[in-house]
Amino acid sequence: MSDTSVRLGKTEVGAVGGRGDGTEVVLDVRDLRVSYVTPRGPIRAVNGVSFALRRGEAFGLVGESGSGKSTIALSLMQLIKPPGRIEGGQALLDGTDILALSEEEMQRVRLAEIALITQGAMNSLNPVMRIREQIIDAWKDHGEPVNGREAEERIHHLLRWVGLQPEVARMYPHELSGGMKQRAVIAIAISLRPKVIIADEPTSALDVVVQRQIMQTLRRIQRDLGAAVILIGHDMGLMAQFVDRLGVMYAGKLVEVSPIREMFRDPIHPYSQLLIASLPSLAKKGQFLGIPGLPPSLLDPPLGCPFHPRCPYAMERCRVEVPALELKRPNRLVACHLYEREEGQA
Ligand code: ATP
Ligand code: SF4
Repeated sequence: MSDTSVRLGKTEVGAVGGRGDGTEVVLDVRDLRVSYVTPRGPIRAVNGVSFALRRGEAFGLVGESGSGKSTIALSLMQLIKPPGRIEGGQALLDGTDILALSEEEMQRVRLAEIALITQGAMNSLNPVMRIREQIIDAWKDHGEPVNGREAEERIHHLLRWVGLQPEVARMYPHELSGGMKQRAVIAIAISLRPKVIIADEPTSALDVVVQRQIMQTLRRIQRDLGAAVILIGHDMGLMAQFVDRLGVMYAGKLVEVSPIREMFRDPIHPYSQLLIASLPSLAKKGQFLGIPGLPPSLLDPPLGCPFHPRCPYAMERCRVEVPALELKRPNRLVACHLYEREEGQA
């Protein structure tokens, strides 16, 4: 690790307003700010996002299109490309600020410590390389054995782990179905046993049956590895089945972070309430359909609470004062002036 990397030691969730039960934090994201610089000004895609991911937990991120979810994923991997720019914040992975690492250092951290699976990844598999070579290619920067019997055995084990036959190693992407390709992508992502897996809409290009199967595979792997997962998406049914806690994004900010059951049973933030209410009523599952009004322009966001132009409860204070994400009830972080801060917050 570099001399410039920041080692702050292990944090506990209680310090950032989580459960406060002493569960160890593996990834501590603090005040992340990311903009896209455009001729019309900076688009503040991620505007001060903080959350703490516990070791082994599944954390969901939902929000309307354009709320900044994918930008968070790319930033944590240091894969933001111009005109995108990380303006500030930290992401402490077991105490090391991975946003402060050089590209060379980050290459060693990607896959080995933190991995990203995206919706589009299966289409970015190299069409002229066998799956075996693509797995090995991913290991090159990590000093892993890339030939010989050990490598072959590892590849076969890996493929079986993600539910593929070892013969797939010799195949090209065009010989695989969409679901098999996505399993191959997962195999590459988990091959070096990362502590954190970011899954950005990992199955949304696939049909519903295959989606569920792949999510079950991902969950099994997550448990085998003891890895934490950040699942990004729109499908609340999938979130309900897969995640332990859910973060709701609005206009580049987290507006509520709650355990998944409480979020469904009793959403606190007015935006979360409208989101949950907009779901098809049967078991509150499915994709959310949107709520009245439009999200604000991130080029020129409204003053105060970014949700105030659409909020049925907006007060005078909401137009001028940005609400902080605070513990408003036990285990519930909410950014809204309607609620008093919970006593005893760290
Ligand atoms: P979706 O659910 O549609 O994937 P999202 O919540 O993941 O959306 P982001 O893709 O992170 O949202 O986008 C956040 C904001 O940043 C949006 O307003 C988007 O238009 C803007 N944005 C993203 N990429 C760029 C880019 N390369 N240049 C300019 N603006 C961008
Ligand atoms: Fe609505 Fe005000 Fe709460 Fe924002 S702070 S969600 S505008 S009540």
